[in-house]
Amino acid sequence: MNKIYTLSATEIAKLIQEGKLTSKEATQAILDRIDEVEDKIGAFSSVNRENALKSAQKADQSEKTSSLHGVPIALKDNIVSLDELTTSASKILDGYYGTYDATVVKKLKEANVVLVGKANMDEFAMGSSNENSGIKPVSNPWDLDRVPGGSSGGSAAAVAALQVPIALGTDTGGSVRQPAALTGTVGLKPTYGRVSRYGLMAFGSSLDQIGIIARNSEDVAKTLEIIAGEDIYDPTTADVPVPEYSKLLDKDINGLRIGIDKKFYEGLSIEIKESTQKALEVLVGLGATIVDISLDYAKYSIPTYYIISSAEASSNLSRYDGVRYGYRADADNIEDVYVKSRTEGFGKEVKRRIMIGSYVLSSGFYDAYYKKASQVRRLIKNDYQKALESVDVIITPTTPTTAFKKGEKSNNPIEMYLSDIYTVSVSLAGLPAISVPVGFVDGLPVGMQIISNYFREDLLLNVSHKYEMERGKIEYERV
Ligand code: GLN
Repeated sequence: MNKIYTLSATEIAKLIQEGKLTSKEATQAILDRIDEVEDKIGAFSSVNRENALKSAQKADQSEKTSSLHGVPIALKDNIVSLDELTTSASKILDGYYGTYDATVVKKLKEANVVLVGKANMDEFAMGSSNENSGIKPVSNPWDLDRVPGGSSGGSAAAVAALQVPIALGTDTGGSVRQPAALTGTVGLKPTYGRVSRYGLMAFGSSLDQIGIIARNSEDVAKTLEIIAGEDIYDPTTADVPVPEYSKLLDKDINGLRIGIDKKFYEGLSIEIKESTQKALEVLVGLGATIVDISLDYAKYSIPTYYIISSAEASSNLSRYDGVRYGYRADADNIEDVYVKSRTEGFGKEVKRRIMIGSYVLSSGFYDAYYKKASQVRRLIKNDYQKALESVDVIITPTTPTTAFKKGEKSNNPIEMYLSDIYTVSVSLAGLPAISVPVGFVDGLPVGMQIISNYFREDLLLNVSHKYEMERGKIEYERV
């Protein structure tokens, strides 16, 4: 047998089903692998060895009903789990233990999936490189001097470094897809409303979605089957049936209409352009056709996103007051406790977002910024809806560059914000999208983004799976 930690979730689950491997053995192998490479990667905020082994033991003793029974996975550090550290990689939540399980956690536990720990991230999911983590930076397994992307950089790096087969991430403007692209993994952001946000620490509530990162689309499909669905605790979840995604992966894609907006391919490095084009040719070889489309308002998506997400963040983050959760600064009166705790507890980028958000919502500026951004958001969404009337999917690169060097963009927030240029418009429209690895440039992975209509994650996974079958396996063992 191959080393256990190199196996996909589907392979591990199969061995457990067949009685050839116990969940305890699989979990121990994963914990050992985490220990082996964590010093180099820094993908974890916390590892819950004891709890993990306990739930593995429970899985070994229970009836095997789910498709990921006994499989060890990681959660991003902003997803609450009972009695476990959940800090959003922020000093302000230092020592905060969850007091309940997020809906996704509850569902995973019911499916006997083993949760091994919390993945490192940019503080409160604000960032594109993981350099904003309040805990430690994360390294890209393909080149340790480079960033893994963000904000789910820990989740993506952990999967790419074979520390876990699957990790949940969250995506507000690209935080699952962008790190997946930079680490050569598959990252799915479901439709807004597909997966419950109950128990997810809120950043931009009208944009946040829990997503999945794995090394192949089948593992992603199996996870989505478990975590998707309506939830009374999150009124934005939709009452739309959850298909068995993993059974729909092999469907023929002959006749698939792929929309391409040529503007999205301008100004890209030649190599990234070529990798995406080659992948498109593979899909054409499977019977797909390419259709020209135009998404004219997408060019306003970065400012629109930063106005809306920061406005929502400034309100969502007001609950961290030094009294209710985590870190509390010493001060003589309650006013000063608030001010000092927030001053010392929040990092630079989080403060920047709170200031932008408070500014765009303030009276006198609201109409010029927040209201205008909401109107532009509608236009961006209309563009996508119109395009998706004549095509089945839209394909773009996931990121404009491969993984950049640590420090390269950290002093230039605008440069950093631009790394999400291809992903944020999709988030503003609430559409689902997946990033799938399509090749390497100078040893660094390149991702392609596939976007579909609302609740068509089945189609995204079907197309990415078909593509993976043609592309062949990626060799992940590096560190
Ligand atoms: N990089 C973007 C930001 O900093 C997106 C983050 C996300 O999707 N959580 O806001």
